[in-house]
Amino acid sequence: MKLDKLSIILQTEPKYRFVQVNQALFKDFISSWDEVKNLPKALREKLAIECPLEIKAEVFKVAEGLRSEKVLITLDDEEVVESVLIRQKDGRNTICVSSQVGCPLNCAFCATGRYGFKRNLKSEEIIEQVLFWARYLKSDEQDNKIDNIVYMGMGEPFLNYPEFIKSVKFLNNPETFNVGSRRISVSTAGVLPGIKRLAGEKMQINLAISLHASNDNTRRDIMPIAKQYTLKETLKTVDDYIRKTGRRVMFEYLMIKDVNDRNEDALELAKIMNKPLYMVNLIPYNPTGQFKASNRERIEKFKKVLEAEGLPVTIRLSFGQSILAACGQLRGKKKIVKKAESQV
Ligand code: SAH
Repeated sequence: MKLDKLSIILQTEPKYRFVQVNQALFKDFISSWDEVKNLPKALREKLAIECPLEIKAEVFKVAEGLRSEKVLITLDDEEVVESVLIRQKDGRNTICVSSQVGCPLNCAFCATGRYGFKRNLKSEEIIEQVLFWARYLKSDEQDNKIDNIVYMGMGEPFLNYPEFIKSVKFLNNPETFNVGSRRISVSTAGVLPGIKRLAGEKMQINLAISLHASNDNTRRDIMPIAKQYTLKETLKTVDDYIRKTGRRVMFEYLMIKDVNDRNEDALELAKIMNKPLYMVNLIPYNPTGQFKASNRERIEKFKKVLEAEGLPVTIRLSFGQSILAACGQLRGKKKIVKKAESQV
């Protein structure tokens, strides 16, 4: 797609053409300009050439129960990004989007880091991921809709701040997708300048921090960014954000066997997380090589230790290991997944 061409093409057209095009693209989710009968034929033809609507995509379904699906989208320069549709039990649909091709942060547990960093996504390319799922859901029998959007796919949103926030504002705009800001979440590995900038946005989107360790030593072992920003600095920045916005913040904590999952780790975590608007979300680890996942009992026990210290804790349900649901794993395992899919 070439969404960035739209405003250039429509520049010489009357204003109401923008309204018609926005309605067609981002509310009716058309996939061909021919469908937009209220546009003059000549304009439709021009748009078809200069702003093609095709999204090059390959969808992977989960075998068990179709709970989540993944798409690999090939961009104009042949780079590939992934996005996930999570169909929740309550019928709501969450879309997980990527913000970069690859990622420069190189967290030891994350599959995306291993491919290195290619480039930032443009806001249009982030929007394209949402648009893909909107069209996909529209074609569902139940005419499903997008309820939530999470910036938790490949890449670090706060290292691509201008395009990230541009895409958020676009998705939030009542004239386009109209996804409420409280239904949009961003997750950061702890890029502090980004947290500070978000605090000044006056946008009520949800913030999540990938914490994954209760002390700097362990955190540095698994997340190189912890060498740049200490836990103390990170939590101070989060406290400033909370003071400014009054919003709750979610701390994500991956459960990695023998790395951060002992009772002592839970007690240490409880000490630093014991603040009113902090929430802890334990994430079952999706093994990508080096580490092993904590088992279910260990996670439950870890949760109990935190709760005994008075902390509100949730466990994120693991969305379909069979499609390699965590970060960047599908892109890396493309061939294997395809083979598995053909056996289903
Ligand atoms: N760069 C951002 C957003 C992308 S990662 C961040 O770090 O927050 C989104 C979430 O998936 C993060 O919490 C990340 O730590 C987690 N994640 C990465 N690899 C994972 C894996 N193998 N299993 C489970 N979660 C993983």
